[in-house]
Amino acid sequence: MTPDEVRSAFLGFCGLTQCRKFARSLVKLPDAETKFDRLRYWQEALWAKFLAAFPDAPDDVDTIGSCLHWCDLHHQSLLTGAGHQPIDLRHSESFDMAREHEFPFGFGWLGHHCPECRTSCIDWIALHPTECRMLQHRVHDAEWVARHRANQEFLNTCRDAYIPADEIRDGDEIWMINTGRGTDSLALVRDGTIVPIVD
Ligand SMILES: [Zn+2]
Repeated sequence: MTPDEVRSAFLGFCGLTQCRKFARSLVKLPDAETKFDRLRYWQEALWAKFLAAFPDAPDDVDTIGSCLHWCDLHHQSLLTGAGHQPIDLRHSESFDMAREHEFPFGFGWLGHHCPECRTSCIDWIALHPTECRMLQHRVHDAEWVARHRANQEFLNTCRDAYIPADEIRDGDEIWMINTGRGTDSLALVRDGTIVPIVD
């Protein structure tokens, strides 16, 4: 079977969702053009069923990997390097839908991505600020924060909101944010970017 035949047969065999999960979970070894790590247990079980239906399909992980490490939307191999994942991306159903349909291999910390998916993901986020923006409104401006940095009531608020009070610098602001998971919360914002909580 040619790689194209393997891809389309496998897609028809297990469906789009499972096929993408299979592709995303294939781990390419670094510094090797066509070397893949082993199949995971669920991949091996699925591939065995596929082989029973398509005995001519490849059965070694490197050939399987080079056929299926592939973006089914843009018809190209996945490249090494993480997808796009800004830390202040708000979770939303519309983003999940867009990811599924427009950039299935462009988002996330995975070690590989499709460059066209990645670009689509960046464009989609830029075009949908309401869905994607965690920042809701400013609660305290930099001047207010500077004046209240040592205020016990403010420090208590910081503690309750998991804001690292020791990390506050000149110019920092306090914003109400919505992560898309649960209710609004307060966050420390520096130069328009949320300062991540460090455990
Ligand atoms: Zn793609």
